[in-house]
Amino acid sequence: MRVLIVEDEAELAGMLADGLRGEGMVCDVAHDGARALEMTAAAAYDVLVLDRDLPHMSGDSVCRALNASGYPAGILMLTAAGGLSDLVDGLGQGADDYMAKPFSYLELVARLRALGRRTSHGGAPTVLSRHGVSLDTARRIAEREGRPLKLTPRELGVLEILLTADGGPVDTGELRERLWDAALDPATTAVRVTVHSLRRKLGEPPLIHHDPGFGYRL
Ligand code: CA
Repeated sequence: MRVLIVEDEAELAGMLADGLRGEGMVCDVAHDGARALEMTAAAAYDVLVLDRDLPHMSGDSVCRALNASGYPAGILMLTAAGGLSDLVDGLGQGADDYMAKPFSYLELVARLRALGRRTSHGGAPTVLSRHGVSLDTARRIAEREGRPLKLTPRELGVLEILLTADGGPVDTGELRERLWDAALDPATTAVRVTVHSLRRKLGEPPLIHHDPGFGYRL
């Protein structure tokens, strides 16, 4: 599941992103509304966590722009004000769900998963597949030739990014940034260890290849 967090409070955005990456979600962050629209134009997210109160361009404007263009992601709005009128307003802008700050992190995760399951592709499960490997991105189930794979959340995240790249190379830096933390020490072996473990679990013949200078491809 690909999530875009649109939140100008850098610390909150960073904590949320870290938490969701730990759940195996592929997570990007935009700190303002204009950047959010650039990023949604460039990539297909399943769900947006959208703060209403953003500099330059409000969350409401982002929400209206995305709905006007038919962007299929589910939108969960976050707002500082928790009154009923705000709820009605937020949903009136085309948001699919709404939470007031301060919010429960566990509730947010549960609502994002529910949104991810029912949005984008008309409610149908989103299944990515390539060379006999399939991943149901909403239910987080992966198989190879019908054999279920027991993967950790981050292994599922790596598999999702490689399948989405559709045979194109994905470098370690991108995996680190989207599934761990951009601030993670680039020298860490965490990414490599996870990719190797995923490659082993996918079985024979090996499907993940490493091109020095380009990255991993499936
Ligand atoms: Ca804000």
